[in-house]
Amino acid sequence: MLNSDQLTTTISLEDYGIKNAKVKYQLSPEKLQELTLKKGQGVETASGVLAVNTGEFTGRSPKDRFIVKDDITSEKIWWGDINIPFDPEKFDALYDKVTDYLSEKEVFVRDSYACAAPNYKLNIRVINEYPWSNMFAYNMFLRPNEKALEDFDPEWLIVNAPGFMADPKTDGTRQHNFAILNFTKKIALIGGTGYTGEIKKGIFSALNFILPVYKNTLPMHCSANVGKDDDTAIFFGLSGTGKTTLSTDPNRSLIGDDEHGWTNENTVFNFEGGCYAKVINLSKEKEPEIYDAIKKGAILENVILDDKGEVDFADTSITQNTRVSYPIDHIENIRKPSIGRNPKNIFFLTADAFGVIPPISKLTPAQAAYHFISGYTAKVAGTEAGVVEPVPSFSACFGAPFMPLHPAKYAEMLSKKMKTSGVNVWLVNTGWTGGPYGVGKRMELKYTRAMINAVLNGDLGLYNYDNYHIHSVFGVAQPRECPGVPTRVLSPRATWNNDQAYYEMAFKLTNAFRENFKKFEMHCNEEIRRGGPQRYGF
Ligand code: ATP
Ligand code: MN
Repeated sequence: MLNSDQLTTTISLEDYGIKNAKVKYQLSPEKLQELTLKKGQGVETASGVLAVNTGEFTGRSPKDRFIVKDDITSEKIWWGDINIPFDPEKFDALYDKVTDYLSEKEVFVRDSYACAAPNYKLNIRVINEYPWSNMFAYNMFLRPNEKALEDFDPEWLIVNAPGFMADPKTDGTRQHNFAILNFTKKIALIGGTGYTGEIKKGIFSALNFILPVYKNTLPMHCSANVGKDDDTAIFFGLSGTGKTTLSTDPNRSLIGDDEHGWTNENTVFNFEGGCYAKVINLSKEKEPEIYDAIKKGAILENVILDDKGEVDFADTSITQNTRVSYPIDHIENIRKPSIGRNPKNIFFLTADAFGVIPPISKLTPAQAAYHFISGYTAKVAGTEAGVVEPVPSFSACFGAPFMPLHPAKYAEMLSKKMKTSGVNVWLVNTGWTGGPYGVGKRMELKYTRAMINAVLNGDLGLYNYDNYHIHSVFGVAQPRECPGVPTRVLSPRATWNNDQAYYEMAFKLTNAFRENFKKFEMHCNEEIRRGGPQRYGF
């Protein structure tokens, strides 16, 4: 049998318009790492892990994400500043320029797929200008076996040319970088940015259209794991709220850390074959599983190494968004294949920098719908101490930048599924306690984990007045006690030591909720509208 280094197979890219390229097809991650080092595009840490800099962009660029507006998409997409239309002819012209740019060059090609459940499999061919981007695709997408490679029929194509710069005047882009989805041609065209997250989130965005429209499946920006009793838990949340951190739990098998589908066959499946974890301030003590996943094969992005080749996870001089990608089997306890049953519990994670949302609370179905549509988290104003004004941030379905359809479409599907599966929904504040950002501090990870474990182990007690208190502002049910968590921590008001200041801040936040929800009100019934906060500032 041939391993991937010995594969005699190669493929031609002429049909794609890439002429005379030196095609490196399906190289092993070892080989790609070696080539990256040789080209001076990366270095190795003391333990042999590849570390790269992604260049000008160290995060996604949502303002440069376009969707080609054509017969397939024009009536279905929720157009606006999230889903920005792109002209089909302009796309064709830009595609020609990019493939012309890649012609005569060495390019790296990988066949892979998304969606762990067989009926939903989406074959993907990835064409990269750089070897490390191709290694990222190896880590993050699902890896077909040899048999599947033999008669591989690519459905979607990703063309990724970080070194190509668009000319906004003629190309129809906003600036030199772009990520454009074309549903008719089934192409994700990415240029001008080396940020690898654009590759995975490009396919995620495509699936967020394909699955609900053609497969009656709800795509979700969430992580998922499963316990010993086969009970699935899923964790929704915007970036930095804890999806990856909290789903990686030694006592539960990881299904996936970021993108899943919930089918009508009562299953939840991972779209991906790897994880993409934040590594800012990562420590072995607090997050041993992720820490240990950073071994050869992983790719670190935008971290700083000391002169011994050790990573300084506290150094954010390139970006706060330092990352590592690794194949999911770098985590010990995983579900194989990455499929679970209908979830028993859903967690909505929010990093509330106002410090007013309870650290854990139970939601009614109406509240769950309301919070799903709102998709609240907070951004901290700056990184220096003493900056006290956090900024509320709302992103529908906890992932608006990746959702091509109107949020109400996903919310309807989720509500229906929640009803038929009888799932419990919890709101978890992984953000601030004891005051807002600058005054209080981030919720301790061990407490958040204890609260989630208490839910999953059924330790929070019966859902009644003795065990739960209804929050006077948010209307959510706050447990009075939780094993492993100091009782005081469960009441955000108590942690502030200043009731008036607490309520003022809470009203500030509920006013922001109300303001944000206005644009969805007409799409929601009275029940969902009542799922919002109970009290406002004026
Ligand atoms: P993305 O969508 O960008 O991948 P994510 O939701 O997966 O984001 P994580 O990568 O899990 O977010 O990031 C959560 C960060 O917050 C980690 O750096 C983690 O160490 C830190 N953190 C601190 N306190 C907590 C807490 N109480 N709960 C969860 N995470 C916490
Ligand atoms: Mn994550």
